[in-house]
Amino acid sequence: MSHILNLEKFSFLVYGLGSSGLSVIQYFKKKKINSYYVWDDNIKLRKKFYNKNIKNVKNLKSICKKVDYIILSPGISLKKTPHKKELIKFKKKIITDIDLLYLCNPKFKSIVVTGSNGKSTTCKIIYHLLKKNNFNVLLGGNIGKPVLSLKIKKNMFLVIEASSFQLSHSKFIHPNYAILLNITNDHLDWHGSMKKYLESKLKIFYLQKKRDFAFINESFRNIFQKKKYLSKLVSLKFKDYKKIKFRIKNIYLRSATNDQNMNYIYTLAKLLRISDTSFIKSMSSFVGLPHRHEIFLKKGGITFINDSKATSFQSSRFALASSKNIYWIVGGLPKEKDKIDFKNIKNNITKSYIIGKNISFFKKQLNNKVKFTIKKTLRKAIISALKDMKQSDEINKVILLSPGAASFDQFENFERRGNEFKKLSKLYAKKFI
Ligand code: ADP
Repeated sequence: MSHILNLEKFSFLVYGLGSSGLSVIQYFKKKKINSYYVWDDNIKLRKKFYNKNIKNVKNLKSICKKVDYIILSPGISLKKTPHKKELIKFKKKIITDIDLLYLCNPKFKSIVVTGSNGKSTTCKIIYHLLKKNNFNVLLGGNIGKPVLSLKIKKNMFLVIEASSFQLSHSKFIHPNYAILLNITNDHLDWHGSMKKYLESKLKIFYLQKKRDFAFINESFRNIFQKKKYLSKLVSLKFKDYKKIKFRIKNIYLRSATNDQNMNYIYTLAKLLRISDTSFIKSMSSFVGLPHRHEIFLKKGGITFINDSKATSFQSSRFALASSKNIYWIVGGLPKEKDKIDFKNIKNNITKSYIIGKNISFFKKQLNNKVKFTIKKTLRKAIISALKDMKQSDEINKVILLSPGAASFDQFENFERRGNEFKKLSKLYAKKFI
């Protein structure tokens, strides 16, 4: 790493006091750095921090002007914060906690994963693979611990999940292995346009060097080539992965949902000189993530799958492609401009059950494509699906919660929604099956 920042010489404003902001403060404390201010748009939160060591911010504008860097939390949107004027004016100073990691640390190797869908799953699988193959490895970023909370040692591998929010303000990220899984029109409301969203994702390649590797799928290769990035473009041949896929015993990893992720991971494994035998062996001990195509119950020929993390139609598409005879629970807060494409999946769906407060949106999407009924609540949808399943003569059936929408209209978050689905399913499975 060429550029190591001497923190003592600079001043900072930590903007946003969620988990990544707190990790920056902790990091500064550890390094005995005092030249920083903190800010959160929530007055109660920021007041908690003002004490002898952390200076009070009375005039945000003057502080933005005074400091060298503004470390912005990923959750903050430049369009929505009440102080957007100040932030936009000093946009050049904005960096992220991931930037600090790259600026302040001596040699480590990083694998950064981004994309619209599959980031957490892919990161977890890579972490597991490296651990099983005796690499010295840590996992962080958007998944688990913020990167600055990781205890990094020289030559260690870091697997970092980077969201488009984090990337959009990053200026110094330069992974050794940069992985862009896919891009769909997710989070357009936050970024403003597809172009900006794509730009933020491409940031992982900007500062890569010649010896680094870039993983990007076919459809975006020409963009990559036009930009003339320095790193080596990795060839992602699905047919290579397909040759060994049948040897992987883990059903979760073999589902169509994970084909793309696994293709990338297998290619990475080859670059890291992990043999096919070791790769296959490591994969057999991987346990999937909750709420991502999570098979949690099998009873009377019915498989119960919790895919509550599918918050866009694109992510639901993968679950819908992975099974047949699906009784699909769908609905919630849809993503802006989202649209489902039923190509190749239509025949997998026996019936759909619409839940949530946005009934008309989902009705429109499903109309004339798949059979559906409106149930509003998760409980009613489960009962109705189980009753329908009882009457059908299909042999193997699947009840799938893959809402294709955010949960906030009815639940606190996707975890709560998924847990409720699991709880109610177990309850009504006893009654109806
Ligand atoms: P992210 O971290 O990008 O939000 P997750 O790994 O948490 O992604 O998975 C979110 C949802 O997307 C889940 O429903 C999962 O089954 C689905 N999914 C996983 N990998 C992919 C992929 N490569 N393409 C599309 N959907 C995927």
